[in-house]
Amino acid sequence: MKRLMIVVPCYNEEEVLCDTAKQLTGVIENLIRKGKITQNSGILFVNDGSRDKTWELITEANKTNKYVYGLNLAANVGHQNALLAGLNTVKDICDIAISIDADLQDDINVIEQMVDKYYEGAEIVYGVRNDRKNDSFFKRFTAQSFYKFMSLMGVDTVYNHADFRLMSKPALKELSNYSERNLFLRGIVPQIGYKTDFVYYARKPRTAGKSKYSLKKMLSFALDGITSFSIKPIKLVAALGAVIILCTVIAFIYTLISYFAGHTVAGWSSLMISIWFLGGVQLFSIGIVGQYVGKTYIETKQRPRYNIKEFLNNEKH
Ligand code: UDP
Ligand code: MG
Repeated sequence: MKRLMIVVPCYNEEEVLCDTAKQLTGVIENLIRKGKITQNSGILFVNDGSRDKTWELITEANKTNKYVYGLNLAANVGHQNALLAGLNTVKDICDIAISIDADLQDDINVIEQMVDKYYEGAEIVYGVRNDRKNDSFFKRFTAQSFYKFMSLMGVDTVYNHADFRLMSKPALKELSNYSERNLFLRGIVPQIGYKTDFVYYARKPRTAGKSKYSLKKMLSFALDGITSFSIKPIKLVAALGAVIILCTVIAFIYTLISYFAGHTVAGWSSLMISIWFLGGVQLFSIGIVGQYVGKTYIETKQRPRYNIKEFLNNEKH
């Protein structure tokens, strides 16, 4: 029998936390009863620098519920880093880890299937949403365009898979070897390799509270995903540059012909357009190159991705 830890990143989730703890406890107890996981399996709530009562609620649950563990991060480091903090914390104490969002938009009923697939030999099991009708049109549209754009940019991700997945101990060990700071787990995990499998479910609406992903966070997440894994944008800029040079040659030839044909060229408007257009293209290109330079800069600093303030272990029970 294997020890399972469910890892849940939480940022200002006081409204859903108690219910989430209760539901996940139900899942754990059910799996223990069926003899699929060990008695000392549990749930690790990672408090990602919440400003509300999230950590108090986790501490409380840790006292009253023997399955609940808590990890308190010193500051808000974002979903991906908080999740990694949790996964790195459990990787030495468990055999299987499942990550899930605190709002339980992902179907907890497929956790058992994930565990079954693990016993059938899969080291990584992805939860895939095959139905998003409960998401708002905006969320669905942005999310799906994101997946499509990612694959267009050559980033290998699992379509419609968020961070609801099972990882075995060896997979977790591999993951901890990725030392990059700009963390995009959905791009890294498929690179780990190992035998993978999928479970499918319908995504539910948030039980309570608001989405913690603002448009700004979503955009920066998408941009991170692309620029961390793909150099296609640079190639596109190069291609654009080539096309523009070609256009300039044609324009130059055209101008020469017009000149020798004796037309007077009232060149002001075309000149202005060229200046603006080329200026724009250059700025755009510099911006994209800057993305990579910025990343290199951050990576070379080798800063820790998170600092753990305290770790509530539940071993005493
Ligand atoms: N989250 C986090 N840190 C953040 C933002 C979000 O730990 O800075 C957690 C949040 O508590 C939740 C998960 O990441 O458990 C996913 O966030 P949310 O449900 O708000 O995103 P959505 O489902 O809208 O994409
Ligand atoms: Mg959510």
